[in-house]
Amino acid sequence: MLYPWQQKVWQGWQQLLAQGRMHHAVLLVAPHGSGREALARHLSKTVLCRNGAAAMGGEPCGICHGCKLFEAGTHPDFHLIAPAQEGKQIGVDAVRQCNRWAVETSQLGGERIILIDGADAMGEAAANALLKTLEEPPSGCQFILLASSLDNLLPTINSRCNKWRLAMPQEQETKRWVEKQLMQSIKLETVRLNGSAPIATQQFIEQGQDIRYAKLLASFAEFLRPPFFGLYDVAGLCTKEGHHSLKWLSYFLVDCMKWQQGVTSHLVHSESLPLVEQAAGVMTPMILLEQTRQANNLYQKLERHPGLNTELLIVDWLTGFMNHP
Ligand SMILES: [Zn+2]
Repeated sequence: MLYPWQQKVWQGWQQLLAQGRMHHAVLLVAPHGSGREALARHLSKTVLCRNGAAAMGGEPCGICHGCKLFEAGTHPDFHLIAPAQEGKQIGVDAVRQCNRWAVETSQLGGERIILIDGADAMGEAAANALLKTLEEPPSGCQFILLASSLDNLLPTINSRCNKWRLAMPQEQETKRWVEKQLMQSIKLETVRLNGSAPIATQQFIEQGQDIRYAKLLASFAEFLRPPFFGLYDVAGLCTKEGHHSLKWLSYFLVDCMKWQQGVTSHLVHSESLPLVEQAAGVMTPMILLEQTRQANNLYQKLERHPGLNTELLIVDWLTGFMNHP
């Protein structure tokens, strides 16, 4: 199933498929929570359809052997690799397996598909191993790479692929779409916290993160006021929520900086402006700047090393608000 915001990219791909001009390596840049996996799978199914997508108006027929196997998740010519868990890298062994798949003959006599979900999570050795295959593409093998951004992708990989960017809908559009799915009204700040990615926003609410974040934010804003009560409450809530809570709080600190500079519109925390105003009133621009920087550093550190003592490091970060004059 495709989502409305994917139509433009999908139509571009359909055109290339119809003309037989699909590049052997497609790179789709799209955030998590954009339904990018669904879009990549739809492309895979279309390419693998035995009735030929071109004859079917550019869509998989849904009834052939290939389509049936694909729907059952057992298509022998469809291969997927992804990080074992969030924050982990794709290792060189997984990529070597891809390279072996790439040179195998097709089980059903059609194309082979190799989908790399999280291409930006490949380590350098893994990326270099893939590069060789992308440079000398075996025939009948379609690579699909998914990445959240180009920042962590080797430029050499990037330059070997045909790049597509999946734009997220406008905030109000995302808000309306999620409200329709959930049959309830939602806050604009929830949309903004999730970069306007519709599925990420929906899951944020479905999983109760919006309620937990509201509680965390209230405790955080309270803590920022001297005499800094509740440090361990904030640290506990952050730790329970996971390190991505640091990202949300860093958005809050950036909102506070903007507020101090007189910017009052288009802040992420559009429904929590009283908290922004309160916190902006008690912190100096220097603390805000330094602590935002530290929050981002800590976020990256915890993202790369999931084994670290999160609570201890967050307590340490929070202490930074109290140590400034
Ligand atoms: Zn089919």
